Amino acid sequence: MTSPLWFDPSLCLIDGAWSPPLSGQNLPLINPSDGSELCWIARGGKPDIDAAVKAARSAREGDWGRMTALERGRILSRLGQLVLDRVDDLALLEAMDVGKPLTQARADAVALARYCEFYGGAADKVMGETIPYLDGYTVYTLREPHGVTGHIVPWNYPMQIIGRSVGAALAMGNACVLKPAEEACLTALAFAHLAFEAGLPSGALNVVPGLGAEAGAALAGHPGVDHISFTGSVATGALVQQAAGRNVVPVTLELGGKSPQLVFDDADLDAALPFLVNAGIQNAGQTCSASSRILVQRGVYEQVKSRMADAYGQLTVGPAVADLRLGPLISSRQKEIVAGFLEKGADLTITAQGKIIDDAPTAGAYVKPTLFSEVPPDHVLAQDEIFGPVQVLIPFETEKEALTLANNTDYGLVASIWTCDGARQMRLAKRLRSGQVFINNYGAGGGVELPFGGVGKSGHGREKGFEALYGFSQLKTVAAYHG
Ligand code: NAD
Repeated sequence: MTSPLWFDPSLCLIDGAWSPPLSGQNLPLINPSDGSELCWIARGGKPDIDAAVKAARSAREGDWGRMTALERGRILSRLGQLVLDRVDDLALLEAMDVGKPLTQARADAVALARYCEFYGGAADKVMGETIPYLDGYTVYTLREPHGVTGHIVPWNYPMQIIGRSVGAALAMGNACVLKPAEEACLTALAFAHLAFEAGLPSGALNVVPGLGAEAGAALAGHPGVDHISFTGSVATGALVQQAAGRNVVPVTLELGGKSPQLVFDDADLDAALPFLVNAGIQNAGQTCSASSRILVQRGVYEQVKSRMADAYGQLTVGPAVADLRLGPLISSRQKEIVAGFLEKGADLTITAQGKIIDDAPTAGAYVKPTLFSEVPPDHVLAQDEIFGPVQVLIPFETEKEALTLANNTDYGLVASIWTCDGARQMRLAKRLRSGQVFINNYGAGGGVELPFGGVGKSGHGREKGFEALYGFSQLKTVAAYHG
């Protein structure tokens, strides 16, 4: 296959110029479908982050900071169109870099365009308010950007996560420094190329690829950064919050999950079945909002188990470009982590597994999607985020028990309820400990417009939707005394 790269991936973008990292060092990028080396990327470090933050500050105080909300919105809308124009190129890059089946990679590219359109349209619709106050005063509020925002993103959905965080931050007028994941950063670089083609001024977006402990840590703890948006693991999120805390800088943490779907006896199983399976195996289970716990009421438990087992029997795994239901995991390291969890499940019943196609390259990071049943709720497979295509089935008898089970992990990102009982839908939607609750669906088609974020170890702060614009801005109160 010819290379899908239309730019030099070994460079950083700082102040509108593409340049090698100051260390002169590079990192290999591996194609997880066959273990081959895709290309070399920059190993950015503290000096590159220093330069990027400085450039962002000048952009904020210069052309970018002076632009009207309407002009910022137009740039983002143009960027959305450029992303749509290159949707297949972006999808191929993501497929090769992340191992994502092409159809799923394409959906992510379309979502990136949608974020640009949404935030492009929203940029000039963020308003303050007037507040009735004492006699002789006029009081109003202004929504202002933080200034320089840092964006540390993971490898599992680079395009979607860049769209929702960088898109919203730019719409509010922040100047951004983006640190993509070392395992997958090609679409971050492609996005930056397109952003400047769309008319973004120099320094408004800077991209420094590199290792988490080097470029990531330097960005999280940088005294010149005014806000950090972090998406990734709980352990790293805690480090990022600590580092930002030393500079008294606000942080949005989008972390992991162990999201349940609750299936009641009266559920429409034909409607539920595709969501029950797909929410667990999409992107090979490497999704923060993956539904890895399926809680099923006893009356339909055997039926759900057997229908999910049939669906698992149809699942095939192979290279990203083969475009099957599942591609490889991101790396052989991730494969070892998932294999470790499967070993921890040796005492459990495997109900069904999917199939790795016969000619899948042996050096690819492939695992079989696996469904366990009758899993004790406190078992490690029912409690820990696996980040692979593994789902557990847990039976329950009553609504009360279902709620207790659903809320019984450290996480709280997404939950869904499958029932035709309207009162039960409302009761549970209120009582589930979760940032999002879906009723008779799961994930709602990507949900660019829907505020997203977690409670507990799933993090804090909200991205997506209009809410993200509040997160990437702060409120100023102006009180004028005029007598
Ligand atoms: P990770 O925490 O290892 O890495 C995420 C990012 O942080 C990468 O860019 C990495 O380079 C950087 N990083 C690593 N160490 C750092 C440090 N010391 N300081 C600053 N930055 C550092 O996570 P991952 O393994 O890449 O991603 C998987 C995790 O991300 C899962 O737990 C998943 O649930 C979570 N995730 C959450 C969401 C969400 O929206 N809630 C979305 C996607 C992924």
